[in-house]
Amino acid sequence: MTINYINHELYMEKVRLYDIISKVGTPTYVYSKACFMSRITRYMNALKKYQTATQKHQIHYAVKANSNLTILKNIAAENIGFDVVSFGELDRVIRANGSAKKNIFSGVSKTEYELNAAIALGIHCFNIESEAELNQIQYLAEHNKTMIDIAFRVNLDIDPKTHPYISTGLEKNKFGIDIPLAKKLYLVAAKSSVLRPIGVACHIGSQLTDLAPFSDALTRVFDLVSYLKKNNITLQHIDMGGGLGIPYEPTMIMPTIESYIDTLCSPLQGRSESLFLEPGRSIIGESGVLLTQVNLIKHQKNKTFAMIDAGMNDLLRPALYHAKHRICELKVRSGSAESYHVVGPVCETSDQFCSHHLMIKPGDYLSILDVGAYGMSMASNYNTRLKPAEVLVTDNTWHVIRQRGSYHDLCQLEKI
Ligand SMILES: *Cc1c(COP(=O)(O)O)cnc(C)c1O
Repeated sequence: MTINYINHELYMEKVRLYDIISKVGTPTYVYSKACFMSRITRYMNALKKYQTATQKHQIHYAVKANSNLTILKNIAAENIGFDVVSFGELDRVIRANGSAKKNIFSGVSKTEYELNAAIALGIHCFNIESEAELNQIQYLAEHNKTMIDIAFRVNLDIDPKTHPYISTGLEKNKFGIDIPLAKKLYLVAAKSSVLRPIGVACHIGSQLTDLAPFSDALTRVFDLVSYLKKNNITLQHIDMGGGLGIPYEPTMIMPTIESYIDTLCSPLQGRSESLFLEPGRSIIGESGVLLTQVNLIKHQKNKTFAMIDAGMNDLLRPALYHAKHRICELKVRSGSAESYHVVGPVCETSDQFCSHHLMIKPGDYLSILDVGAYGMSMASNYNTRLKPAEVLVTDNTWHVIRQRGSYHDLCQLEKI
């Protein structure tokens, strides 16, 4: 994390966070450019070690983690690809100067409109997740008279041992195609004159804290790749998805980006396939904080609630996944900390951010940590609340990269 206290006040890089609040207000997401750019550099350097003449290992940033245009533009400038799950995300990538050619289109169900639009833009690869989708894309390829590169996303029935809502690789989940069916569908696709199966994809879950499920997954993918080779289908890439976790608590032991790459790249040495990864959280998660103000303190039974001006509409992860984010004061007070149940203003019991030891008075500011991923991208206007503003910090400067908007904006598309 690139935040720290200087003279009892919280800074991100060289910017005093209070200076942002005094101009922009709260709730506001603030991101450190140095933080996410350094993650990208680490990914690229770790992959470079394993690069060969035929193996071009690549990362594709998972846009759904944080899709702000300025963030995408900075990432696109590093010449990496993107993993998108909707046409809206692809549209953002193009607006941010990203190239469609480097995009992977994932997602369990894409509409005909989305597929046609992505075909027209010339996506690198479509990840197919069902037999029905294979038929759909084959029909569209014939209709558009174009050759389409595809991969099948397989469901390896691997337990990533993460929160059930973010585990995706189990057979009971809606994601992917089981191996017996995948074998059949590759043969069907290989016979098609408009489809070219170039890869295999999987994504076993998110916020993984252990590398073993990734290597188990890779072993199972290798079995499939061998079967396909015997049937004269040679794949160019193996896409292992995203999922590397970040330490939401300082006590959490997390595999490093380098050890994650070592685990996946060393078994690939001496083979022909390139490794694709789709990291989201491990790139952008730790770079963001959500600045919020304590509106009031409420005592009820033997609990004390700190009611903040950010709610589940601004940061959904605690309500959706029971996620716990660290919270710290913007200005350190002297005295002793007390335990507060930190809650938002939204009319839902799940609108809460766990209990924390804090030294606060009404009007004080707080910073919710590690919210760069699945923070703003999941924000909504529920309770007719404005979404947070977003700010990017670069060394000693900062810029608003998304305005807060107005109540007028919220009603603009409606008609009476
Ligand atoms: C969500 C998702 C990712 C990104 O996952 P992280 O845990 O943020 O790294 C990558 N690929 C697919 C298919 C996804 O659905």
